Amino acid sequence: MELRKDPITRSWVLTGEAPSDTQPSECPYCSTDGAGLQVVSTVPPVTGGPWSVRAVVHPTPMYRIEGDPQRHGNGLYDQMQTVGAHEVLLENPQHGRNLWEASDIEIEQFLRLAAQRIMDLKRDPRFKYVTIFKNNGNQGGQEIEHPHWELTATAFVPRRVLYELRAGREHHQRKERCVFCDILSQEERQKERIVEIRGEYVACCPYAPRVPYEVWVLPRLHEASFERGILARDGRVRELAALLRRTLIRIRSVTESFHIVLHTIPNTLSKSKVLGYWSTIDEDYHWHIEIMPVLEGRSRSYRFKETYYSDVTSEDAARRLRDARV
Ligand SMILES: [Zn+2]
Ligand SMILES: [Zn+2]
Ligand SMILES: [Zn+2]
Repeated sequence: MELRKDPITRSWVLTGEAPSDTQPSECPYCSTDGAGLQVVSTVPPVTGGPWSVRAVVHPTPMYRIEGDPQRHGNGLYDQMQTVGAHEVLLENPQHGRNLWEASDIEIEQFLRLAAQRIMDLKRDPRFKYVTIFKNNGNQGGQEIEHPHWELTATAFVPRRVLYELRAGREHHQRKERCVFCDILSQEERQKERIVEIRGEYVACCPYAPRVPYEVWVLPRLHEASFERGILARDGRVRELAALLRRTLIRIRSVTESFHIVLHTIPNTLSKSKVLGYWSTIDEDYHWHIEIMPVLEGRSRSYRFKETYYSDVTSEDAARRLRDARV
């Protein structure tokens, strides 16, 4: 596999055959000792059990930790090696215990481990971006059965985040304000698209959704870095855990399949000329979690469309999600 850059959109794409997966008959992630796994980090249990959350190297990683990205040109084109990290973050040792069924303490432990892993990998200046995501359900592209998220560290910033970083910086240049904070203050005033406010966090449907029932979870007060925020806080992470759990229960009243991704600031150790060396990033970017439900029968449809179309408005979506039994 290699990474190629589209010279028009400037986004990187992975191309070439992915490493193949041999499915073991027994779940390797249920094991207490981590035999057969490359365990990166284990958090001791809070309430019984062998461990509470655990990070392991992905069995068939898309990115590999060794080596240099060897970014180079080929005439007009740019390419580089798939250097990075690809980990599986196990939510808990129990095979059937999903995030929305877990306790808030367990989810809090998970969020802390995720923040710790992101922080650790950002010490490596080769990695420009580190994030976590979760594919849930058949239609959502879930590949490993055990409740988990995936973490990737990459030598490039993913396209959507790049758009957000550029937009955030431009808004800040014009108004000296964070665009996400501006969105939040309008949403909290209008209330139409708010799903739930819990302490310092809010779940709301974006004004222009890409898919029906799309939800974002954000801190209400400005905060650029998820990992710094989580590791600096004590009591308040529990509120985020509860909001995440409750939002997923609401989403599951509509569909079992969804995709979640965390958008946080890129690695500021790794300077970028294109983005102006992150001079205002702490003021202009605002971390958030995006939840993209995948509705039955249309999992493929939105990916290949030139224009997103959602037959449910975000006002109707927010109303239905608010009314869901939690
Ligand atoms: Zn398992
Ligand atoms: Zn903000
Ligand atoms: Zn985003």
